[in-house]
Amino acid sequence: MAAAIGSSSFTLLRNCALVVRPFSTAKVFPRPASAFSFHSKRVRFPVPSSHSRSRRLRFATNAVNDEEAAAKAAAATLDEGAPTIFDKIIAKEIPSSIVYEDEKVLAFRDISPQAPVHVVIIPKIRDGLTELGKAEARHGEILGQLLYAAKIVAEKEGVVDGFRVVINSGPTACQSVYHLHLHVLGGRQMKWPPG
Ligand code: AMP
Repeated sequence: MAAAIGSSSFTLLRNCALVVRPFSTAKVFPRPASAFSFHSKRVRFPVPSSHSRSRRLRFATNAVNDEEAAAKAAAATLDEGAPTIFDKIIAKEIPSSIVYEDEKVLAFRDISPQAPVHVVIIPKIRDGLTELGKAEARHGEILGQLLYAAKIVAEKEGVVDGFRVVINSGPTACQSVYHLHLHVLGGRQMKWPPG
């Protein structure tokens, strides 16, 4: 069990590193001090002055491919019953910055925020919901509760007038933790298509 969680954490750390934009400066949104502290607020990468657009694009494409590869690797080693890093968060065995909690759901700040507000919402009991693609009719109630919790979180975070809810389901969508979760993103202008 511990080994499964350990390897999942490693995959996630790789993902965190890879989502940082590899050229110019990449802004990482500030997070509360209670969460992990290994992210700097601004990461600079050495960029040669003669770099070409094609080199930059190649670098960016490699980073995206690595993220996809990490997601596919996570899916390939997926054991449907294995605990994930989110089980440790639910059990409060590792720290998290909790934004909202009730009997059924837990919402905490994402460790690698992609917007000024980035909160992950999970069911406290996974009950087979490793991903949305595995949902069955019996999950209807908890899925509704998760969506309603997203609205509560948006209100609490002051972004209820404009926010985005994302669910990555499966390797093609770059899901990296196989415990169904919603991302609530807000506090900046969102773009469409999302990429
Ligand atoms: P996904 O890629 O859709 O599976 O999302 C998983 C999310 O969980 C990513 O955005 C990670 O940054 C986030 N995450 C992973 N580990 C932690 C953690 N220990 N605390 C908070 N967020 C985490």
